[in-house]
Amino acid sequence: MNRIIVLGIFIFLGYGAFGQQKSISITIDDVPNTLKFHDDGFRSVLLERLDSVDIPFTIFINESRIFQNEIAEKNKMLLVRWIAHRNSSIGNHGFSHLRYSEVGFDRFVEDVQKGSVLSDSIASHYGKSIGSFRFPFNDLGKDSTQQVQIKEYLKASDGQIAPFTVESSDWMFDSVYCYYLEKEEYEKAKELGELYVAKTMELLSFFEGMAEEIYGRPISQIYLCHDNGINADYLPELVSALRNEGYEIVGFEDSMKDPVYSQDDKYNQKWGVSWLYRWMQTQEERVQWMKQEPDLTEIQQLFEKVSDSGNLSDKLN
Ligand SMILES: [Zn+2]
Repeated sequence: MNRIIVLGIFIFLGYGAFGQQKSISITIDDVPNTLKFHDDGFRSVLLERLDSVDIPFTIFINESRIFQNEIAEKNKMLLVRWIAHRNSSIGNHGFSHLRYSEVGFDRFVEDVQKGSVLSDSIASHYGKSIGSFRFPFNDLGKDSTQQVQIKEYLKASDGQIAPFTVESSDWMFDSVYCYYLEKEEYEKAKELGELYVAKTMELLSFFEGMAEEIYGRPISQIYLCHDNGINADYLPELVSALRNEGYEIVGFEDSMKDPVYSQDDKYNQKWGVSWLYRWMQTQEERVQWMKQEPDLTEIQQLFEKVSDSGNLSDKLN
């Protein structure tokens, strides 16, 4: 059959399946946060909260975090809890969170392979498997040559690249949030937590508007955030806000069934931009949209202030 006709039918079917309901999947990077686990008395508050909101979620693991402190055996048990959770699906995020454009193909591939050894064996024990790979920093390579090289490698080894459509610099909010908590400025921490939820919803609304204009329907969004303090305390509020806006929280693999994700990535720079930008034909089109993105100056300024004044920069993801 003619390729265009096949594509047309595909998009038509996709429109039928995905045209009605707004949906989003939650993906959590840099799991497990073993430093916070240690500080919180060997608890993962985020995992406990996820348990209480009872939503599907996908984790992207950096196994090097197991060996980040002196409690590797306990950390392994934490990883087991994440993988064994009834609502989790599992992805690789590289062993040690390397930036592909900087380290190059050979070193990066070695790190990708090393990154799933332990989690693969735990996952298979629970009847699960590593579903996809998310690039650290969403850095897919410095140019099209480097990008094609790694994409071909992943394709040959059945590694699906994990995209995202929305993120809200949660790591930046988290740094400021943790700073306020350390200073025992609880009112400010609360305001910051609420700002995080509000800004995330504003960004989501922006990307949803973009999808509506380009595709004529809501697409199944994929939210990227991290295993950190602000999500431990505010992810349930974010989930409530999403539900209030009519979003169904779906699994990552369900989001990936939306035909938008079968499009080619046409972006060949190293920056970690949304896949909604990567699918655009030209950089001009991207820049036009980027200029309209909700403003994050407030949190950026707070983040810079906190990073200058304290010792929090070592906590950054
Ligand atoms: Zn990461």
